[in-house]
Amino acid sequence: MNDIAKFIEGFRRFQQNYFGDNKALFKELKQGQRPSTLVIACSDSRVDPAILTNCEPGDLFVVRNVANLVPPYEKGAGLHGVSTALEFGVRSLEVEHIIVLGHRQCGGIGALMQDGTPESKGEFIGNWVNIARRAKERVLADLPDASAEERVCACEEQSILVSLENLLTFPWLKERVDQGKLNLHGWLFDLEHGKLVAYDASTGKFESLT
Ligand SMILES: [Zn+2]
Repeated sequence: MNDIAKFIEGFRRFQQNYFGDNKALFKELKQGQRPSTLVIACSDSRVDPAILTNCEPGDLFVVRNVANLVPPYEKGAGLHGVSTALEFGVRSLEVEHIIVLGHRQCGGIGALMQDGTPESKGEFIGNWVNIARRAKERVLADLPDASAEERVCACEEQSILVSLENLLTFPWLKERVDQGKLNLHGWLFDLEHGKLVAYDASTGKFESLT
């Protein structure tokens, strides 16, 4: 069976089983969505946030992009996909949590850590992952003798912190954080070991969540 046939067959099973078993849920969702949580995750095919957290439709408002990055608040004519999702999630849906969900073996962070100019890394990729250049600079300064692999791992963590910092550059988002109405979380999924860790500001480290 080719992949498209597999997806259609998968939808048929979803329709018969999941949709059929959850008619009340979908009837309620037809009225609108009220997710409590916005997730910023990587586009990587291995790290679907709804699968990882065993969530139902309606639970998560999700943005996915290469390396789960949040650009800083910027006005102007650019096409701000992430900022649009943040605006809708925070100001209209009034989510109570934002989770930046990174992962190990992230190709986007690998590209960021490669030598060369952003322009040398593809038409769009280099400039995009350069959002987290602060993370790269910190890793290079803090781990001068580490292996390339160790540096990528450290940058996977640091880039989550850069995204959390960039979230706070959105004035209406910071206001809700300051008011205690919105909580920010930095999580990292280790797909090799099946573990989830979260940034703990009190220790400055990523600690196991389970
Ligand atoms: Zn990734």
